[in-house]
Amino acid sequence: MIISESFEHEEVVGFKFGYQPIGKPRLFSHIYFVDGLLIDTGQSNVRSTITSKVKELSVEQIFITHHHEDHTGNIAEIKELHGCNAYASERCCQMMKDPPKLSFAQKIAWGDRASQSDLIPKYDTVETNNFSFNIIPIPGHAPDMVALYEPNRQWLFSADLYINSYIDYFLADESIADQI
Ligand SMILES: [Zn+2]
Repeated sequence: MIISESFEHEEVVGFKFGYQPIGKPRLFSHIYFVDGLLIDTGQSNVRSTITSKVKELSVEQIFITHHHEDHTGNIAEIKELHGCNAYASERCCQMMKDPPKLSFAQKIAWGDRASQSDLIPKYDTVETNNFSFNIIPIPGHAPDMVALYEPNRQWLFSADLYINSYIDYFLADESIADQI
């Protein structure tokens, strides 16, 4: 089953996508669109659903928060759709040239993802026509992960950063110390 939902907050549109081979999805990816900027591209196993939603948006640039497959599954397809560039942190650009192999479970949950050799590094800010987003490194969940923060509007796009007093799931390659 595929689940696709959207929601709005001020000028930001958010999309939530879930996929489960049998039964209701329990894991979801999120992508965001604001002022021509698409933040992340979702997982490849709901590609046709994601590209049909993204096709309706005026995407001028893509920013990837980190290399995980539920954020990088449709980069080439969306770039092609809109004829735009895709940007990421320098570390993410390096990692995506030869990304870590996915486990069978990851491929079932999210789908495979291709390497990307043409991501363009951004260092301090991502500019759109009306907004400027500060790039803030937030390692721990992934070494290349960054957040985007728009200080005037106080919007924080925090990728997969999630800090709680009790964490149910923690990946083998995550670092709680870095995350804190
Ligand atoms: Zn992640």
